[in-house]
Amino acid sequence: MTEDKDDLPAKMAHWSAARYYTGVDIRIERSAGRVKTVSARQVGDTLVVRAPAAMDEAELDPIIERLRRRLERRVKARALDDGDLEGAARRLNARHFAGKLSWRSIAWVTNQNGRWGSCTPAEGTIRLNHRLAETPDWVRDYVIVHELAHLLESNHGPRFWALVNRYPLTERARGYLMALSGEEREAEM
Ligand SMILES: [Zn+2]
Repeated sequence: MTEDKDDLPAKMAHWSAARYYTGVDIRIERSAGRVKTVSARQVGDTLVVRAPAAMDEAELDPIIERLRRRLERRVKARALDDGDLEGAARRLNARHFAGKLSWRSIAWVTNQNGRWGSCTPAEGTIRLNHRLAETPDWVRDYVIVHELAHLLESNHGPRFWALVNRYPLTERARGYLMALSGEEREAEM
């Protein structure tokens, strides 16, 4: 715990603590004011958490842990290489679509609202949820095949699934992702 009032706004905390976690810095600012909830803002790769002075550590720790993981994923996503995705998409296009598909871009993104991937056929753009970077390649490849198939079939009808099922690990990958989602939220995949 260090005293560093100087860089805090006047109305803010009487003290500030810096705790260091692997990869991501967290700075906790205790507010002496009427703040009732925890808020956080990202400053570079540091997460500045503002918490009520009265909130005890046991209550605050899980909240910080959740925020820390979210920031870590964001930082990690920035380091991901879209070139890896382009290479994988070309390989899968050659193997399962006779090399006939073309697209404009395929990229990692962080704001997928729970979806694993998305495709905008009219623009030829494919986006993959950065969380897939933490899954085995064969799971990520399924999502790429799924989005590639949307270049030909925009819906999830029988013709679409006939295309996707050219990828032999489709069922296994779908099961893997469903388990990862923690629920049977099949909406998009
Ligand atoms: Zn789909």
